[in-house]
Amino acid sequence: MEEPVYTIDAFIEKITKEDKKYDLDKIVHAYEVANELHKNQFRDSGEPYITHPLAVAFIALSLGMDTDTICAALLHDTVEDTPYTLEELSKDFGADVAMLVDGVTKLGKIPMATKEEQQAENIRKIILATSEDIRVILIKLCDRLHNMRTLKYRKDEKRRATALETMNIYAPLAHRLGIRPIKEELEDRAFQFLDPYAYEEIDKQMLLQKDERVALIDSIKQKITDRLKQDFDPVPYVDGRVKSIYGIYKKVYRDGKDLDQIYDKYAVRIIVNNVTECYAVLGIIHDMFSPIPNRFKDYISTPKSNMYQSLHTTVIGSEGIIFEVQIRTWEMHHTAEYGVAAHWKYKEGITGRTKNDARLEWIRKILEAQKESDDVEEIVRTIKTDLAPEDVFAYTPRGDMISLPLGATVIDFAYAIHTQVGHKMTGAKVEGKMVSIDHQIKTGEIVEIITSKDENHGPSRSWLKICKTNEAKSKIRSWFKKEKREENIFEGRNELRRELKRNLIHIDDEKELYEFLETDIKRHNCETLDDFYAAIGYGGVTLSKLMPRLKQNYQKKYGAQKSPTPEIVPFKSSRKASNGIIVDGIDDCAVKFAKCCTPLPGDDVIGFITKGHGISVHKKDCVNYQTQKDLPELVSRWVSVSWAEERSTTYFSATLDIVAHDRIGLMADIVNTVSMLRIQMHEATGRELKNGNANVIVTVSVAGKEQLESLMLKLRKIDSVISVDRSNKQ
Ligand code: MN
Repeated sequence: MEEPVYTIDAFIEKITKEDKKYDLDKIVHAYEVANELHKNQFRDSGEPYITHPLAVAFIALSLGMDTDTICAALLHDTVEDTPYTLEELSKDFGADVAMLVDGVTKLGKIPMATKEEQQAENIRKIILATSEDIRVILIKLCDRLHNMRTLKYRKDEKRRATALETMNIYAPLAHRLGIRPIKEELEDRAFQFLDPYAYEEIDKQMLLQKDERVALIDSIKQKITDRLKQDFDPVPYVDGRVKSIYGIYKKVYRDGKDLDQIYDKYAVRIIVNNVTECYAVLGIIHDMFSPIPNRFKDYISTPKSNMYQSLHTTVIGSEGIIFEVQIRTWEMHHTAEYGVAAHWKYKEGITGRTKNDARLEWIRKILEAQKESDDVEEIVRTIKTDLAPEDVFAYTPRGDMISLPLGATVIDFAYAIHTQVGHKMTGAKVEGKMVSIDHQIKTGEIVEIITSKDENHGPSRSWLKICKTNEAKSKIRSWFKKEKREENIFEGRNELRRELKRNLIHIDDEKELYEFLETDIKRHNCETLDDFYAAIGYGGVTLSKLMPRLKQNYQKKYGAQKSPTPEIVPFKSSRKASNGIIVDGIDDCAVKFAKCCTPLPGDDVIGFITKGHGISVHKKDCVNYQTQKDLPELVSRWVSVSWAEERSTTYFSATLDIVAHDRIGLMADIVNTVSMLRIQMHEATGRELKNGNANVIVTVSVAGKEQLESLMLKLRKIDSVISVDRSNKQ
């Protein structure tokens, strides 16, 4: 599609058709100033430069932005690319327009910074300005959208970098702001440059199916409209929608699906007047078509983090065609299409000031996460990971919804509830079952965080590598920063020493080392070498990024005179008992639990050295141990083992043998008792005994002997149960 040539006349024609009032004189003046300033400049496409700010103003107008934003759109490149100064701009157009233009104006060259750091500093500036006034980011998105529309005219190497930045930074921002059309167009256009072959393939396939699709959507729309006519007057608005190319690509690529298997490739959208009607329409749709199980999503009662609300359901039409139906009110529709910009488009007298707007809390969080780490690139990482277009929604046991980025773990969940919940976390349960702390949260899960009562309980350093959100990371870092200065200095010093040695940098004298590192120490806002060690220790300084430059500096400063052979740095071996078992005198050996007696923490245990399969752990009262312990040929293979002190998050399976008088409801009572204790049951089988009694064998996962015994106690109290025993046989 060729871009139309943008002119001020076309713009004036368009703006006069708007319902809202605009200060046309001010806008035309802004155009004239910009036109004069850019008059000898050209775009890479060969067009006069002014077409770009005009195009940006067109996009801003389509979002319903106000006079000042449109003026700023027209002037957005003047300060960066022409001699015009901010002071002059402020005098000519007022402080607001000047502030908006300043927000999107890149910083001058920053000395000693890498390309990535420059990019991060510029994004940081935009986010900082946005935290004061949301209109800044909206102008930037309009600017980027037009640059993406004309990206094909740029040089090859520029294209990829811009497309990548768009995909990683600006599309997620547009998503978080809820501006769907801009988000999708940015993604599709960036994707076209990042993976042109995949783009073309999907585009071609979609085109092939186009006529068929249009006819299909039309017939479904007609069918629904006819049916809704019976109950609604006026009849709700029904529209069709096709998924974006990048949206399809993600499903094909990520879930390995064929185009035919993507159910929400086509969607029908029904827009009604109020929430009650949404659910009424949903009922009618489920009546007309067969709903597909587990595909219903109620984003009305739990909106997405970007405020999106709708009911989604997937159904099968009479011809076997699967499609998605989205049901929402007009107001929800405006939010879905325009996000934060909906305020300007549909309400009057809105300012862009974002000081106390809770919906933009995430912007302040991004800035805080970055401050915490003293690392400008953190901001890029935060946007990339925390604002990635995929969110998952999970619930606390009380039913509060927590929204997290895809891949977030229970640690992230804990920190999202409250900083203290995170710090005090000792484990987590999902749907009542214990999970490991690297459990990745899926939408709809109910997550219970188990916390320690110990006031001094804190996070573990290893969590930094497990958690996904920068919110959690920065809270963990700041805990270590505050609580553990001595430890941080110790860890940081060791880490620095190790890295320096690895890079053949040998400076032993602390004063000399300080001088060598001085610029970096200052750049991370540290005063002393200890401060710097501490910052490394809590993760505020990432050494791997500094090392290449330090290595260069070292070579420059000391040349070859100081390069002895590298020393091998010994690693401290940690006596970690990953299975919860410590084997006498042997570190790091494979341990498994014997199936004959399935020992639990707390049981008296003994180890048997198997041939090639590590150590097999038995209960001391296991029949196999009792009968074999004194056999001369085996005696040397029994070793003493013990349970690790530390509570492990590992779960153990145990089998119980229950005998009861058979009755209706016995099985249900057993299952209920197990689940009331929130113990996971793997298997339950029942059989009738010759005497009319029933024998039920259940296999459960428990944390230890204690928990199993309390379960056995509860089971014995069930009406008609005769005995409950731990099964010692296979
Ligand atoms: Mn621009």
